[in-house]
Amino acid sequence: MWCTTFAFQPWHSAVELKRYLHRFFQELPRIHNLGGVRRTPYNQYDSIVRPLVHWLEARGVRFVTGARVSDLDFRYGPAGKSVETVHYVEAGIQRAIALRDEDLVLVTNGSMTAASSLGSMSSPARLIDDTRGGSWALWETLAGKHTGFGHPEVFTRSIDESKWLSFTVTLSDPTFFTLMETFTGNVAGTGGLVTFTDSSWLMSVVLAHQPHFLGQPDGTQVFWGYGLFIDQTGDFVKKKMSDCTGEELLVELLGHLGFEAQKDAILNAANCIPCMMPFITSQFMPRSAGDRPAVRPAGTTNLAFIGQFCEITDDVVFTVEYSVRSAQIAVYSLLGLDKSVSPLYKGQFDASVLLASARTLVS
Ligand SMILES: Cc1cc2nc3c(=O)[nH]c(=O)nc-3n(C[C@H](O)[C@H](O)[C@H](O)COP(=O)(O)OP(=O)(O)OC[C@H]3O[C@@H](n4cnc5c(N)ncnc54)[C@H](O)[C@@H]3O)c2cc1C
Repeated sequence: MWCTTFAFQPWHSAVELKRYLHRFFQELPRIHNLGGVRRTPYNQYDSIVRPLVHWLEARGVRFVTGARVSDLDFRYGPAGKSVETVHYVEAGIQRAIALRDEDLVLVTNGSMTAASSLGSMSSPARLIDDTRGGSWALWETLAGKHTGFGHPEVFTRSIDESKWLSFTVTLSDPTFFTLMETFTGNVAGTGGLVTFTDSSWLMSVVLAHQPHFLGQPDGTQVFWGYGLFIDQTGDFVKKKMSDCTGEELLVELLGHLGFEAQKDAILNAANCIPCMMPFITSQFMPRSAGDRPAVRPAGTTNLAFIGQFCEITDDVVFTVEYSVRSAQIAVYSLLGLDKSVSPLYKGQFDASVLLASARTLVS
């Protein structure tokens, strides 16, 4: 459960595993049914991103999409170095923003979803390994010119160790959800992951509460799944998971579930889209001190790094919380606000948590 819930692979960073064990120690007594997982009513984009964007736009925030920041120029002064120009490309045209003295720059360095690609019911998702996308490119450019801005290559150089494949299935027939409800005893949205421990792909699926998307038509259901060992041969489809079409992924899933009798009905009503993510666990790759830049790099006046690849002591990556905390650190310190960053819960120092978890381990 630990491995599939948090997507750890045997070759990932021991430091990160230790941080996770500390951070989620209190979950051990309910890890078997993932009772500690809280879900948003809809998918996270509809439940969190849309309302936030709406709230921010109403307060004058201007979002520019379809533009890629390519470089930052710095000027040097007694207080340290300050970003003075943001270079970006929009619709193929190179543009620049000259910063005013009061402007601040927050850079998301690195991306776990960069270079993701989609397949279809009849084609696999192709691995894109020759491009790392804007977020990585910007970080590489900055790190190449400045010390103290980290080492992006540590996270991108072993795609075979950071990739995995997910798939999203849209169904126009309730058979699959009804069978799953009977099989697991969970109404969709009330359970956690269903992991097939015998699956050579180490496949898991998640059935969220329906509707999962705003505007999802009545009678349509959506679920999501993934595999961690995507270069292994399947148990029912004799192919590597990474080479499978959406239909083949579903055949493998239905094989593990033993839904043979309903297989054709489910397949005929399904659209399964595979998604290859080359860098999805790049944040878990083994690293050394200094490979991730500090949120506020020493010697800079108006710059911060935010997201999954900056350093926050003791906190755990692959979480929205990490990005939010990095933004809190950046904003409070750049603006000199007298506010505290949300504290980390440290269950390992709570005797009742220790006792409950120890009981689980020995039971
Ligand atoms: C499949 C999956 C499952 C997950 N499950 C969970 C979970 O259960 N719980 C949890 O807490 N977290 C989960 N996460 C992790 C969580 O979604 C991420 O950590 C979080 O979304 C990262 O947010 P961010 O704002 O730091 O970065 P992003 O969401 O990557 O946003 C950065 C934005 O900046 C833009 N950008 C970057 N560089 C540039 C540039 N140079 N120019 C212009 N724009 C740029 C990008 O296009 C993007 O829009 C999951 C992630 C995935 C992919």
